[in-house]
Amino acid sequence: MAEGDTILRAKHRLADALVGQSIAVATPNPRGRAAGVERLDGRTLEGIDAHGKHLLFDFGDLVLHSHLGMSGGWHVYPRAARWRRPRSSAWVVLGGERQDAVQFGGPTLRVLPASRVAIDPQLARLGPDILAPDLDLDAVVASFRAADQSRTLGDALLDQRLTAGIGNIFKSEACFGARVDPWRPLSQVTDEELRTVLDQARAQMLNAVKAGGRHRFAVYKHRGPCGRCRGPVRHRGQGDANRTTWWCERCQV
Ligand SMILES: [Zn+2]
Repeated sequence: MAEGDTILRAKHRLADALVGQSIAVATPNPRGRAAGVERLDGRTLEGIDAHGKHLLFDFGDLVLHSHLGMSGGWHVYPRAARWRRPRSSAWVVLGGERQDAVQFGGPTLRVLPASRVAIDPQLARLGPDILAPDLDLDAVVASFRAADQSRTLGDALLDQRLTAGIGNIFKSEACFGARVDPWRPLSQVTDEELRTVLDQARAQMLNAVKAGGRHRFAVYKHRGPCGRCRGPVRHRGQGDANRTTWWCERCQV
């Protein structure tokens, strides 16, 4: 699953390869044609924005919106390089001067007028990006406080309306870093604890961006005892979507 850190790295890679260039668009898979992505052919890519798990490609008065979900991915290839997935599964190819950016799979690929981005139902309801340079942590804490306080912390951290970008990995890692039990209902998590958990998520994800994805996890998919206390690391599905949470019962209370 691509979380905010993966998307931010993809943004940097894609921007280096394509921004400021006139883009040749191809849609080898019918899914890309259905999205009408060809309308962008020949336009100049002005910039790329990341918001949580969403990428927005600025083509002037049109925007390409991409979300990778569980299995999608953006690859960047030098022209004529061999791709790691079959061409027929490429939803869209954005061809720059020397490199091609290819989106394979993902739940969202669509073109919308730039004027609609601010009022688009899917985008407008997103909470503040946990990796935004000017993130107002107090505002994020306030939005968690305004949510249903019977929800568990681990479940609420995945709610992209409260804050955008945290997924299953950093939900687990942030709670471990803050030593807070992800199974506590929000009503039993103090503002200070909430702030520490969100701070941990942000700091760890920014580290992962810097490390280029080579990031070691403390509890996520961890085998063997906890590296801090040698207690057992547990995992169990959490929330309505039953997304797996990893935690140390002894360190996290
Ligand atoms: Zn432990």
